[in-house]
Parts: sequence; structure tokens; C-alpha cells
Amino acid sequence: MIKFISHNNFIRLLAQLNKDYRVYVPVKREDKRFYGRFENTPTEDIVIGEVRAFEPLKAFFFKGREKVADGFKADMPSSGDKPFAIVGVKACDLKGFKVQDYVFSAKSGTTPDGTNNDDTDPFYLQMRDKNLIISSDCTCVIDTCFCLALGVKPYPQDDFDINLSQINGGFIVESSSEKGEKVIQQNLSLMEESTKGKLSERDKQRDKVVKQIEKNIQENDIPSQKVFEGIIEKNYDSGIWEEEAKTCVECGACNTICPTCHCFLLYDQKDAKKMARFRIWDSCMVKDFARVAGGANPRHKLWMRLRNRFEKKFDFFPKVANLYACTGCGRCISACPAKIDIRKVLKKLVDNKK
Ligand code: SF4
Ligand code: SF4
Repeated sequence: MIKFISHNNFIRLLAQLNKDYRVYVPVKREDKRFYGRFENTPTEDIVIGEVRAFEPLKAFFFKGREKVADGFKADMPSSGDKPFAIVGVKACDLKGFKVQDYVFSAKSGTTPDGTNNDDTDPFYLQMRDKNLIISSDCTCVIDTCFCLALGVKPYPQDDFDINLSQINGGFIVESSSEKGEKVIQQNLSLMEESTKGKLSERDKQRDKVVKQIEKNIQENDIPSQKVFEGIIEKNYDSGIWEEEAKTCVECGACNTICPTCHCFLLYDQKDAKKMARFRIWDSCMVKDFARVAGGANPRHKLWMRLRNRFEKKFDFFPKVANLYACTGCGRCISACPAKIDIRKVLKKLVDNKK
């Protein structure tokens, strides 16, 4: 279903959703966008278009730190909590879901050797099932955006409940799931028919952003996924890893900010009465990540860990899930204090493969 909603009615729609959901919207602070709770946000700060938020979408579904067991019992999120409605999610973060779903959800199906990937995570599944994803088209680019090189368009095509395309005066509203359809049906009085003129305005806006990203890709000489096959295998023993890892300070920011990174660590903590088990995000760039009992560490050098990070994204995931575990969101480029740029590393790997 495709409709149009004016800006004022859109704010009314968010207020309606707030009755059943905890609504989060992108809010602009200086030149960045962060998710904020709708009811605490002055509406003029909300930016539905523009580009991805600073923090990755995974933070809502796979939390940085969560209690997973209390004593001997699993500590599931309270069913009394309202689910999230996350608004303004961009296409690159929707692609990140594909990787997270593969890891945490049985929906990911079978592995290439034919076995079922049935190790599901009840915490992740509970969070994913109930929530509403209202995505939106990018209306501009920042210089670190390179989604097209990874085959991701700057406007959502699937994996959303509702998508918003910002045009003059409001948004084109499109549903892609039963949940999304229901929300539109329940709020039809806030919407009007979308016209051919409005749809063509949306298409022009989309084309404009695609061209801006193509320019970004060309200017930064970024290779496309079409030439990624075999880049890790071919460069496994190359000096590129050592050269690139020279400035790394092992902070793990590239992992935590990444919408596809999903590794975690479990630890137990005792309070006065009983034990609790917590799960926190882990980072494969940190030395102790691969250390095993007895102290042996197969990736004791930083360059080995950098190679492992790329291997997982550009060799392991294409093999097991038929997708690159990178969305081209560019967050790791901005977050890295050592200025290690994934686009430049990819370029070196591709050039060295020839
Ligand atoms: S590796 Fe970097 S560019 Fe790719 S998805 Fe992760 S944060 Fe984004
Ligand atoms: S963000 Fe940069 S410095 Fe920090 S671990 Fe990643 S590559 Fe190393």
C-alpha cells in the first residue's frame, strides 16, 4: 500500500504509535544524528531523511550489555515492556539485520554443508518479532558513504514494515509487511492518496542520491563487491595486513559501531544473594578475544586480528550466508582513531589480487 502523509500528520502518527510502542526517531545534534525517544524530543530536531544515525540499529536488538540469566533461570525481557518502533532506519542498517538474523535467528536457514543453523537466540528473537521498523530513504550522503559498492541502494527495498520517502510537504508512505499494513489501515485518516507526481518526485530524489554516492565511490576510488571474490584468500600472506595494522590502537571501536558485528562475551557476576549472567559486546580486534585456556592465542598479533576481521566480513559470510558482512555505512571509518579506512584496505586487497 502506498500513501502520502503531511509533516504535521506524521507527527500525529508518531504520537499515535507512542501509545503502543516506545518510539525512537533520529534527532540531529550538530552535524550528526542519534536515536532519541520521541516523547522527549522537540519535533523540529527530528530528521527522518538525511543519512544513517551515528549508532548502529543492532543496539536496540542485541544490547551492549544485558542480563541473560538470573540464578539458573533465563532472564527474558519483560513482556510488559512496550515494543520499539524505530523510525528513520536507513537501507544500510536493514542490510545489517540480514547478518544479525543469520547469526541469532533460525530464519537464516541452512549452511552450505546442508546443516540447519538452529542455534537461535531467544533474546534477539523476542526483540525482533514484536518491533516495528519504519525505514526511510537517504536524502543526502556523507563522504564516508559507500553502500552502492556493497550492492545496497540508499533507499530501502525490503525488510521494513513501513518506508518513508521524504518529498515536498511530507512523506510517501509504503508498507511491506502485515504489521506495517495494519498501522497504515489504522491511521488512514491521517493520510491521503499518493499521486503520480509525488511518486516521480520521490524517484528523482532517489536518483539524485544514487548519483552522489556514485561520485563518492569514484572520487575515493572504491572497488565494488563484484571484484571482492577471492581477495582474502589471495592476500592471506600479504604484507598489507601488517602495514595497515601499524597504527591500530586495539580500541575495538570498528567492531562496536558496526551494524553487522555480533560477537559477544558472557560473564558471571555475583551480588549479595545469587549469581547473574551478563552478555556484552566483544571485539575481535582485542588481543584476548581469541585467547584460550592455558594462554595460547592463535591471533596474538594485531595484524592477524585485522586480517581476521576482514576475513569474516569478506570471505566467511559470503561462503556461509551468501552475503558480505559489510553494508558500506562507513561508520568504522569515522570511528577509527588510527584512521584505518576500510575502503582503502579493500582497494589494496583488490589491486594486489590482480
Ligand atoms: S565494516 Fe565498516 S562500513 Fe562495513 S558495515 Fe561495518 S561499520 Fe559499516
Ligand atoms: S577502530 Fe581502528 S584503532 Fe580501533 S581497533 Fe578498529 S582498526 Fe584498530
